Amino acid sequence: MKNLLLVGAGHAHLHVLKMLQEETLDLNVTLISPSEYQYYSGMFSGYLEGLYSEEDMRVHMPSLAEKAGVTFVQGAALSIDATGKVVLTEKGDILSYDLLSLDIGSLTGGIDVPGARSYALRIKPNYRIEEVAKVMWEAENPVVVGGGAAGVEMALALTARRAEEGKQAVTLLSHSPLLRDSSQKAQKKIEHITRNKGLGVYLQEKVTNVTSSSIVTSSGKQIIYDQLLWLTGPKAPELFRISNLPVDEAGYLLVEETLQVKKYPSIFAAGDCATLREYPDLPKAGVVAVRQSDVLWTNLKAFIEGKDGVRFQPKKAYLSILSTGKRKGLLLYGKMVLHHRLSWTLKNSIDRKFMEKYKS
Ligand SMILES: Cc1cc2nc3c(=O)[nH]c(=O)nc-3n(C[C@H](O)[C@H](O)[C@H](O)COP(=O)(O)OP(=O)(O)OC[C@H]3O[C@@H](n4cnc5c(N)ncnc54)[C@H](O)[C@@H]3O)c2cc1C
Repeated sequence: MKNLLLVGAGHAHLHVLKMLQEETLDLNVTLISPSEYQYYSGMFSGYLEGLYSEEDMRVHMPSLAEKAGVTFVQGAALSIDATGKVVLTEKGDILSYDLLSLDIGSLTGGIDVPGARSYALRIKPNYRIEEVAKVMWEAENPVVVGGGAAGVEMALALTARRAEEGKQAVTLLSHSPLLRDSSQKAQKKIEHITRNKGLGVYLQEKVTNVTSSSIVTSSGKQIIYDQLLWLTGPKAPELFRISNLPVDEAGYLLVEETLQVKKYPSIFAAGDCATLREYPDLPKAGVVAVRQSDVLWTNLKAFIEGKDGVRFQPKKAYLSILSTGKRKGLLLYGKMVLHHRLSWTLKNSIDRKFMEKYKS
């Protein structure tokens, strides 16, 4: 019987496990991931605000694996020998495979600013969310660095929670406008929302230095903090460079539209950790990983059966809903920008439905 090794419990692998509950394949399947829980980042802001519990936003991987007939190994892949078809783990174990699938997400980018690595809190890998939230809840003077969707959502969530406790709003710092990859209309709207909620917002300010109690910006401003959350976008995991696999400039694994590595067709990858050669600018977002899930499952099966796989075709626009606190959401889709309670209700329903699938 052939061995399928799943590395990382990301979105696409959750789907593979779910499908394995429904369809039995003539395969030994093993999943290796560092935490016994897989955390769903779509619910992180709601968790930080206090709208969701730990159980709402996480999946217990040993239980899901058991139901799927998959062996769960708690650990992390350290390097891959694509010729010998083996994976070396951080604990020193060697796992051999006939078919390898990678869904290990990304790490936190922009952390090379002097002092940031020592003093700033990072959520990724996502299993850090619980400990990071605990620290941020107790902060007296929290600062969030990062004006993308993650930074803005987390700053607004914490502000909403602190408002309930009669505490001051969060300081948010960005080296660009907020949500710089979205439309001007969306940028104006989110700036209005953050200022309206009392956040201290610093725009076009690059952090140049971090000490244990303050950050210094490119314009010479000094901002005092007691807890600093760093959310400045994704960074590629080291695994692929270490393993001499084909990567893009940033170090993400290069795959074809079938989610396979051209030189090593028995290696598949999905989610943040992969860059599609045909679509290098696809965002590193959970919503993309979810859309790749079914292609991954179909193509893993096709490979075993010696058939051609299907091609992943990204959508022109992805729906994005940012939670802005107090059960309101900012919905962005193409040119559409809507800020109201219904957007949050829709987001809540999408996120809860997504999680329910993996708990039954
Ligand atoms: C605060 C925050 C909020 C976000 N909100 C949204 C949102 O609302 N919508 C959206 O689309 N995107 C959102 N994102 C982005 C989103 O988190 C990522 O794009 C998404 O998680 C990527 O999914 P993935 O399946 O690639 O990997 P992940 O979901 O990150 O899962 C990767 C898995 O691999 C494991 N792993 C890592 N390294 C190894 C290794 N060496 N060996 C084995 N296993 C390993 C990890 O522990 C984890 O289990 C948010 C990000 C943050 C930080």
